[in-house]
Amino acid sequence: MPGDRVEQAVEWLRREWTANCTLSLAFGTARSQVARLKHDAVSAQAASALDEVLARMDAYRTLSPDQRRDELPQIANRLKALKPLIGPPSAPPVEIGTLERAIAPSRAAAKASAPPRAAAPRQPAMDAPPLDPDDPVTMLPRVGPAVAKKLEKLGLRTVGDVLRHAPRVHIDYSNTARIGDALAFQPGQQVTLRGAIVDVQLFRGPGVARVVAKIADGTGFVRVTWFNQYLINQLSPGDDIAISGEPEFGYGSLAFTNPEWEFVSGPKASGLSTGRLTPVYPLTSGIHQKTLRPLTRAALDRTRTTLTEFVPAWVRDEVRRESGLDLPGLADAYESIHYPASQADKELAERRLAFDDLLLLQIGQLQRRAEREQQPGMPMPGDPAGLAAFRDALPFALTGAQDGALAEILDDLGRDRPMERLVQGDVGSGKTVVAAAAMLVAHANGFQSALMAPTQILAEQHERGLSGLYDGLVGGLKPRVALLTGNTKAKQRRDIAARLAAGEIDVLVGTHALIEDAVAFSRLGLAVVDEQHRFGVNQRAALLAKAHGGARPHLLSLTATPIPRTLNMVLNGDVEVSVIAERPPGRIPVETRRYVGREREEAYDLVREQVALGRQVFVICPLVEANETIEAKAAVEEAERLRADIFPDLRISVLHGRMSGRDKDAVMTAFRDREHDVLVSTSVIEVGIDIPNATVMLIEGADRFGLAQLHQFRGRVGRGSDRSWCLLLADDSTPVGEERLAMMCATDDGFVLAEKDLELRGPGDFLNGTRQSGLPEMSWLDGSFDTRLLDRARRAAASILARDADLAAPEHARLRQRVDAFWQRAPVTAV
Ligand code: ADP
Ligand code: MG
Repeated sequence: MPGDRVEQAVEWLRREWTANCTLSLAFGTARSQVARLKHDAVSAQAASALDEVLARMDAYRTLSPDQRRDELPQIANRLKALKPLIGPPSAPPVEIGTLERAIAPSRAAAKASAPPRAAAPRQPAMDAPPLDPDDPVTMLPRVGPAVAKKLEKLGLRTVGDVLRHAPRVHIDYSNTARIGDALAFQPGQQVTLRGAIVDVQLFRGPGVARVVAKIADGTGFVRVTWFNQYLINQLSPGDDIAISGEPEFGYGSLAFTNPEWEFVSGPKASGLSTGRLTPVYPLTSGIHQKTLRPLTRAALDRTRTTLTEFVPAWVRDEVRRESGLDLPGLADAYESIHYPASQADKELAERRLAFDDLLLLQIGQLQRRAEREQQPGMPMPGDPAGLAAFRDALPFALTGAQDGALAEILDDLGRDRPMERLVQGDVGSGKTVVAAAAMLVAHANGFQSALMAPTQILAEQHERGLSGLYDGLVGGLKPRVALLTGNTKAKQRRDIAARLAAGEIDVLVGTHALIEDAVAFSRLGLAVVDEQHRFGVNQRAALLAKAHGGARPHLLSLTATPIPRTLNMVLNGDVEVSVIAERPPGRIPVETRRYVGREREEAYDLVREQVALGRQVFVICPLVEANETIEAKAAVEEAERLRADIFPDLRISVLHGRMSGRDKDAVMTAFRDREHDVLVSTSVIEVGIDIPNATVMLIEGADRFGLAQLHQFRGRVGRGSDRSWCLLLADDSTPVGEERLAMMCATDDGFVLAEKDLELRGPGDFLNGTRQSGLPEMSWLDGSFDTRLLDRARRAAASILARDADLAAPEHARLRQRVDAFWQRAPVTAV
């Protein structure tokens, strides 16, 4: 029960105290317990109080040992004081077995003496009728409305959803570590052990009851605690069991709390536990492994005959013939995803399902592209004289990469089909001027352009920038530029609306305000979307819908997020991509440095030095958690700390995600106007803001950010002609974190970093992590993505569509259904 967890957390804090406040493992355990308390909090008041404690615990990590000794008892006292607020809960505690009891109390009581059939080995269900994948989960055994509601939280509505609910990991209970090797275990690592129960006891309270067992394997013993009193009826001394979980080292001996477990041998063993990989699923409150396993088992057994293959047989044949990839059938693949006979089996199944995702993705993208190709466009032949005048008036020559991208764009614009092109270029590669040239061509052809940016300050920046770029042009050649944002006054708005409708504005720059109803163009021919990943599919569509009449305007999207070449096909298969992989000459590269521990002082010295020279500094706070509230608080506290202890004489401001868009813009504008020396920010600073006077980007907890994000941060400096620095601070980073930081120091080429990121972390973050791509989630790709598979899927998609462009043939009915369902999962709004 929560009250008891408070006691536990306090106990862990005590251990940290006895460990001399050295940020021991005990402290980490305490923190995760508090996080869990917060997760299960029954009131908003409790949640926010616990948030506060969590923020203090995070700040604790950054304190000196002396400060920690002061702070630790205070945190512990605060936590104890919260006990009345936190527990006992009104909802039943989350623990193994709760659900079974809730559904069928009498059966659960009977079951209590028998071991749970965690998941029976595969056996065709003779008596149970087959189910269709589209049937609701309630058709599965023991799923009533209450369970269905909980399953829904996992996104499981249909039997097919259950099939697709992939295990997080498999535990191999047949491959176990020896307890005597405990010293080699890493914190956070999943460990599977096998041994005999030497002793098992129930402790009833105060607080929550728990079962504590001592398990020995001849090389040592471990102590295991389960917060589930009913286990006392299942476990007895002498039982041969396997446990799997994260070891804790705090008790003086090895310990586990609530590990997964199975009987390994003897009459109680289920068929799953020996020589088998046991699935461990992502869970939600009230749903346990031992609930899900029988569900996936039943879903598999009862869809065996109804799962229809939607990939045409000739496609799988062709794949096998041409590339030797043997894709298992759909039913076999699902079976092996959940209950693989071997690791190899599981991998093959993952490839099959990854292939499916890629195929559905490619079919959808090729269809979209084909659809666009059929629409009438607004041909805009290039305007050599105007462009020459534009180039002449520029204070610099375009780089080869800019020229290349521009040529591709001009080519698209000249066609009588709507363009859809994405320009990818690192921060500072000069995408704006390329877009400016395109808008100039639109203007020369008598069309208006719209340029949409995600924030007020970026829109203002663009308006000023464009006016500057067009400044050297004369007469009718020179586009008339206007700015429309949320801040535009009503009178000005009306004026803009009138001029826009009358065709007296050629380029309208703005924020989301551009897609409001009142905005009506007289002849919109080109839409440019900057930082396109910040907009949802529906917002881009709304902008395109601003065109008069039937034709669809050309769309030019800009992004500073480099995507590895191999992934571009997946992420952007429906659009054309131009890459600007070169920066304008004469830039001084940003100097990237790594600081640890005491070297922090050197970083602060550099900050002082730069501010003394009139320069400005960004400080990024550590990524605390995927929680803006805590992060905002951390930023505010960091700013206070810097003000009080480090830079009392500097002007410091704060930016975080809990501020309104308006407030954020106000802070950024004030910083741009040099009202502050240091801007302390959470990761919200990321987007393309141009403050040439900023020369230092100091990133705290740099190891917690991904490469792409670190690189974006770094792109905020080095925009002027001065020498600038990116300072990476991280005190206790992991080897992978350290490798990322080393990469950052080694190169400042975003494309190189993106390739490296793909190599280090797999494609998951590119494909799903951001949800910004507007693509459906593709859960199978992570482990088994490779270019060969992608290439196969793309060719298969093309040859299917070549035979049957609309998938109208009866043998493609199921495929068409799957394509539609797949794309329905795509997000339409930005995050
Ligand atoms: P981003 O690609 O990050 O949007 P910008 O378009 O804002 O980059 O360009 C960054 C800066 O580089 C601007 O000040 C711009 O005027 C300048 N710039 C663009 N192209 C060139 C070039 N070919 N040579 C020199 N400076 C350039
Ligand atoms: Mg830009």
